Amino acid sequence: MQSAHALAMNELNKIRENNITELERKKAEIRTAAPEYSKIESDLMKGGNALLRSVLHGGKDFEKIKNFIQEKQKKKISILKSLNLPDDYLDEHFNCDICHDTGFDENGKKCVCLKALTMKYIDINSNMTALMKKQTFENFDFSLFSPVPDNSGKSSLDIAKTVYNSAKDFSDNFENGLNLMLKGNAGTGKTYISSCIANRALARGKTVYYQTSYKLCETLENVKFGKYENPDELSSAVSVIKYINSVDLLIIDDLGTEFITQFTAAALFDLINTRLINNKSTVISTNLDFDSMEKLYSSRFTSRILGDFKIMIITGGDLRKQMFEKR
Ligand SMILES: [Zn+2]
Repeated sequence: MQSAHALAMNELNKIRENNITELERKKAEIRTAAPEYSKIESDLMKGGNALLRSVLHGGKDFEKIKNFIQEKQKKKISILKSLNLPDDYLDEHFNCDICHDTGFDENGKKCVCLKALTMKYIDINSNMTALMKKQTFENFDFSLFSPVPDNSGKSSLDIAKTVYNSAKDFSDNFENGLNLMLKGNAGTGKTYISSCIANRALARGKTVYYQTSYKLCETLENVKFGKYENPDELSSAVSVIKYINSVDLLIIDDLGTEFITQFTAAALFDLINTRLINNKSTVISTNLDFDSMEKLYSSRFTSRILGDFKIMIITGGDLRKQMFEKR
């Protein structure tokens, strides 16, 4: 798994290569259709070199060389016309006119095309499903929640608004050292809220990686215990782990559903702890209570969570029934 920037630069390189190949194909086509074009091509090359020499040596014969080039260019165009082709048929073609597909503008700044491509790959690297991509704050439908208060005096709508606002606030500010644990029973919409947070972070250009605790631990374990027989599989798993360590926002879904061993408990603690030290944010969703968490992992694990994570409790089957199972 390569960084989004490296993937974007690879794509630009491919675009440049394809355009060069296409131009060479067109030149070969013209050479076949009009054999005199070969001579014009080499004359234009010679003319260009002579013009450069002239500029470097005080402009000697400059006008003469310029006229020579212009005359050859006219001939080239008349050949193209005779073949019913446009004047610019043999011009270099660029997908991006600003940076000529180099990714950087004339001031050495990242071009808009490179930024857009990088965003595309950040999105692909996030590991989110097509369904999760649709689970956004913008698609959140408050009209589905009942405004009638229950015995506690709170309505489903009150709870939904509180969860929504604080999740949104988190996704706008997590880079200031914030971490979040979403706690609630299975199906209360923790994944939906995680997706909303991830999508908003991605829209802000942040790198995000989503994974279930189960898959995450499986990858860590497979690497640690040498379970990958294929070296490509191993190197791709290692690069995923590197990416997980480096992303701005890591989302670990359904903590507690993995096969918990001494190794996975320690590896998860290390992962979360290292991210805290490096000021990288993590969102963990779980239906475990803190007592179970302490038993299954360790007291240092639980105290890390209690000390460094904002805890958001999502209650009520209502949210699930009305909103989060909506497809
Ligand atoms: Zn560009």
